[in-house]
Formats: sequence, structure tokens, C-alpha cells
Amino acid sequence: MSKILTIGEILVEIIATERGDGFREAINLVGPYPSGAPAIFIDQVGKLGQPCAIVSGVGRDDFGEVNLDRLREDGVDVSGIEIDPQGTTGSAFVRYRADGSRAFVFNIRNSACGTIPFTDNVARLVNECSHLHVMGSSLYAPSVVDSVQRAISRIKSKGGTVSFDPNLRAEILDSPGMRQALHAVLAQTDVFLPSGEELFLFADAKSEEEAVAKLLATGIKVIVLKRGAEGATYFDAQGSVQGPGFAAEEIDPTGAGDSFGATFVTFWLNGAKPSVALDYANASGARAVMKSGPMEGASTRAELDAFIALQRGHQA
Ligand code: ATP
Ligand code: MG
Repeated sequence: MSKILTIGEILVEIIATERGDGFREAINLVGPYPSGAPAIFIDQVGKLGQPCAIVSGVGRDDFGEVNLDRLREDGVDVSGIEIDPQGTTGSAFVRYRADGSRAFVFNIRNSACGTIPFTDNVARLVNECSHLHVMGSSLYAPSVVDSVQRAISRIKSKGGTVSFDPNLRAEILDSPGMRQALHAVLAQTDVFLPSGEELFLFADAKSEEEAVAKLLATGIKVIVLKRGAEGATYFDAQGSVQGPGFAAEEIDPTGAGDSFGATFVTFWLNGAKPSVALDYANASGARAVMKSGPMEGASTRAELDAFIALQRGHQA
């Protein structure tokens, strides 16, 4: 079975319990929850029983322990997470606005995962893996971009594959070098997982069809466009497959895209048909939004089977 690797931020998330705009007054908060887009992704991969690992850094503090404990418990190889005794684990404060959009205060670039150098230990882990997943949000510092690019070349040179979720946040889009790094990763991508408008960030096109055609022409094998509650659409050179969303009460959408991507990539790597991979990925995304906390809604295979059966009106 292929081992899946990701490289990027590990954070705790602290959530405002009341909706509103930002953090300029004293408000009630709940957390810390284990978080960071690549961490949420790899935790979901681990829950499905697929071999997997993350390269990152945490401080020697409780926020680091919250993440290490959860990732270990869910089956993720944490040997690539450096524990920096001088560092502090990253954090994100998130508050939902009345319209459902989110305001974030991030501490990533100055945290323990602010630099992720390509050490001998990272090289060892990369050699064990045959698939790399990249989150656009992880391209926040030159050392991380360098490690991601080196991992991509090593994995591709031995016939492995790369998936890429732009996962863009306005708060981090203007990190120096980020746009160039996003394009460089896209050029090596096999499975592209944009959400909504992100499809148009890398293709100058007037329609979805045109954007998909242009992206496939660059060498991307598979595009899966996430559409929130509507589900997702799969595209490849042979055509497209619709994956309708499942009914779910949305409590907290953070992490849905990461869980969706993890489940899609895991099923795809194991040879599932697009319609099957989409079903499991949509179920994974739907279950993720039903729980407060970004990683709290991660699912096992049995939970996804039961959820799909229940929604389709069969006995689980
Ligand atoms: P994120 O905010 O985690 O980055 P995203 O923008 O990448 O999310 P979305 O399209 O919002 O991705 O959600 C990913 C998947 O999760 C959807 O394709 C769908 O399968 C599922 N999903 C999201 N929201 C809902 C919902 N309200 N009801 C049911 N399923 C949902
Ligand atoms: Mg996303």
C-alpha cells in the first residue's frame, strides 16, 4: 500500500463561540483543537488505515502535545515532526461572521513550524512514501517551499504521485514567493483539488469547462472541484462524474475540504472508481462539518459506510 506524505503547518485552533467580526473585544473562546490543513488531511488518511506521515514542527508545549497525541492515536507516523524546545506550537484563532465567512488570526510563520528544513530525517521519510499531498496554505516560508519541492522531485522521480489543494486564505496569500510556489507545485500535480473559485486562479478561463480543459492540457490527470453542500465534480481526460453532497447539519465547515481531499486521494490511490471515491469523499466532508473543531469530524471507513448506508436509506 502506498504511504502518503504531507509537509506543512501544525496548529491548534481556538474558536470564538459567538459569531461576529474578528477579535477586537473580549469574547468567549473554545479550544485548543488539533489543526492545520495538512494535519487535518493526514489525520483523516490515518483514520482510514492508510500508511501516512507528516513533516512539520511543534514546540515542547501543551499545544504540541494536543496534536502529537491525536495524530499518533489516529495512525499517523509522527517521526517527521520536530519538537523544538525553544519554539512555540502554531495557532489560529477563528471567528465566524454572521454571513458564514471566517476571520482568522494566524501564528504560523513565527511558530515552531515557521521553518521546515529538508533534514536527513525528512529525506528518510520521503524515501518511504510514494505520494505527496501539498496544501497551498503550507507554502508560507522559503524553507517549507524548498522542502516541498525537494519531496516532489524525489517522489515523482521514482514514479510516485502528487495531489494539491490550493486551500487559499486571504490572510496568507501574500506571503513572499507564495504565488510562484503555487504555480511550481501545480506544474507537478497529478490530482488537483480546488474549491469553488480556486479553479480559476490557475487558468485564465470564462467557464468551468474551459478552465478544466486548460488545466488537464497542462498534464494534470484528475481534477476534483469541491462545491460545499452540493458535493463535488470529478474531471479527467475521459470526461466528468458528478458526486452529489450528502445532507448534513453544518456546525463547523473548517476542515471539510481537507477531510474530503484525504478520503478522495486515499480511495484514488487504492484504485477506486471515480464515483466511489467521490461518494466516500463527500461523506467524509459531510461528517466533518457536523462537528465543532477542524479535526473532530474525521471518519473511519466503518463510519463512512454507516453514514452512506443511512443516507441512502439502507440498513448500515
Ligand atoms: P475548507 O474550508 O475546509 O478549506 P473547502 O472550501 O476546501 O473547505 P468545501 O467545498 O467547502 O471545501 O467542502 C468540501 C467537501 O465537504 C464538499 O465537497 C462536500 O463533500 C462536503 N461539505 C462541505 N459542506 C457541506 C455541507 N454543508 N453539507 C454536506 N457536505 C458538505
Ligand atoms: Mg479547502
